[in-house]
Amino acid sequence: MVERSPARLPRPIVAGYIEIDMDQLIQGYRKFRQNVWPDERARYQALAKMGQSPDALVISCSDSRVDPQSVFGAVPGQLFVVRNVAGLVPPYSPDGRPRGTSAALEFGVRVLKVPKVVVLGHAQCGGVRAMVEGAPAEARDFVEPWMKIAQPVLDRGRMQPGCTDPLTYYEMEVLRLSLAHLRTFPWIEDAVQAGRLELCGFRFDIHTGILEQMKDDRLVPVE
Ligand SMILES: [Zn+2]
Repeated sequence: MVERSPARLPRPIVAGYIEIDMDQLIQGYRKFRQNVWPDERARYQALAKMGQSPDALVISCSDSRVDPQSVFGAVPGQLFVVRNVAGLVPPYSPDGRPRGTSAALEFGVRVLKVPKVVVLGHAQCGGVRAMVEGAPAEARDFVEPWMKIAQPVLDRGRMQPGCTDPLTYYEMEVLRLSLAHLRTFPWIEDAVQAGRLELCGFRFDIHTGILEQMKDDRLVPVE
């Protein structure tokens, strides 16, 4: 989720900021057809003919600054991506209600049989901020109840000693919670136990562009 910002920023104020309107989207598509499609045609046609067989299922925040395909240098067909506010994984609860993230997990793990499930957290997460500081008034119909999925993180109590930035601490705890929730899905746990599925956690720092990987319950910069 994009962090709260004042209305719309005029184009020249922030370096690299591009205001997108519908015409720009159409122009972007035309560039894709002209510059990308000729070289990628064979890949797309093979994917259409053979179907997809992605290397990983990635659960990431919807934040426009954290694009899994860019961060992992992936190409179309490589990643089955699920994006939601804060990149949350809910606990397994097959109650017959429509549950988008769980549906994507079911399809990716049970039908596509991905060998990896990756949770990609990030710095400056507006969803985590909404959980810790309260959702903005305009985002209480859905964002506030959605972030209740991560309520156990708040219930567990305060920051660990030595951690000075509450948001960074809670972003890490939310990542840990999502990884733990993955294992409440019985067919994920079975696949992990059978060695058919690996679960990984990463955190991307938007400011530095550094990716950290969860190893032995700690985040370590990727070399
Ligand atoms: Zn976010």
